[in-house]
Amino acid sequence: MKENLRSMHFISLIVLPLILNFLFNSCSDELSVKYSNLPVIIIKADDLMDTTPNWNRFIKVVIDNQICAGIGVISKQLSSNKSISEIRRIAKIKQNNNFSVIEFWNHGYDHSKNGIETEFYGTDFEYQLSHIQKSQDFFIDSLQCISHSFGAPFNKTNSTTDSALKRYPDINVWMCYQKNEKENANKYWKDPKKKAIHSLDRNLILDVDYLFLKDFSMDVIKKNFNEDKKKQYILIQIHPQLWDNKSFDNFRKLIRFYKDQKRGVFMTPYQYYQFLHTKKSNPD
Ligand SMILES: [Zn+2]
Repeated sequence: MKENLRSMHFISLIVLPLILNFLFNSCSDELSVKYSNLPVIIIKADDLMDTTPNWNRFIKVVIDNQICAGIGVISKQLSSNKSISEIRRIAKIKQNNNFSVIEFWNHGYDHSKNGIETEFYGTDFEYQLSHIQKSQDFFIDSLQCISHSFGAPFNKTNSTTDSALKRYPDINVWMCYQKNEKENANKYWKDPKKKAIHSLDRNLILDVDYLFLKDFSMDVIKKNFNEDKKKQYILIQIHPQLWDNKSFDNFRKLIRFYKDQKRGVFMTPYQYYQFLHTKKSNPD
């Protein structure tokens, strides 16, 4: 009896922690996203249509520098067979941790604008639903991957968008910029800046911190870093199709600033979602 107890004690004190440790490390290795005090840097590159030399150049910079990025696709405008097969190929390229180097995500079906009306602003529920559906179908049928993230064209949405997005359980991340976009999103979407994210929470809303259209300067990012470093994540919206050589130089500076000088850890939007769900909890 005593021997039995002793061996039980040995198991609980020595063996069990070893097993738990092994399991925990296997899980975190699988996702390879370990907790870090550095802010997570998320690149939101908008408006991919058919591939162009600029897009190819941007993707090459991301791959060569071993970072990762999210690219928003306008489904209707990505129509050439050459572009589709190229994107399919790129979508399969993995980081060392097995996440995609480039996460392609749903940036609307046609990116339309008619006066103040845009694809997800001033349009009704059925219209928005059909446009989300067409894009999600395009990802599966043509790009052979699933879009887990969404960002509206022009960052313009209404309360209908929230209701329409809820119909798509595959879409787990909503990136937005304008305050009213966020106000229209109800409690269904969790803001990691305000709420603890739990393993069963299916939906996340992320704020764009920096919105650069064409050129961008590193000055503002450097100047703000003392405040930015307190953030859990920094979401940077860019438009590589509009870039010139100087913008590409600035992008390399951005990579050096965050990655090489260890001020941030790059993740794609859905990778960040996965990362939050592997942590036990976040501070409120
Ligand atoms: Zn756009």
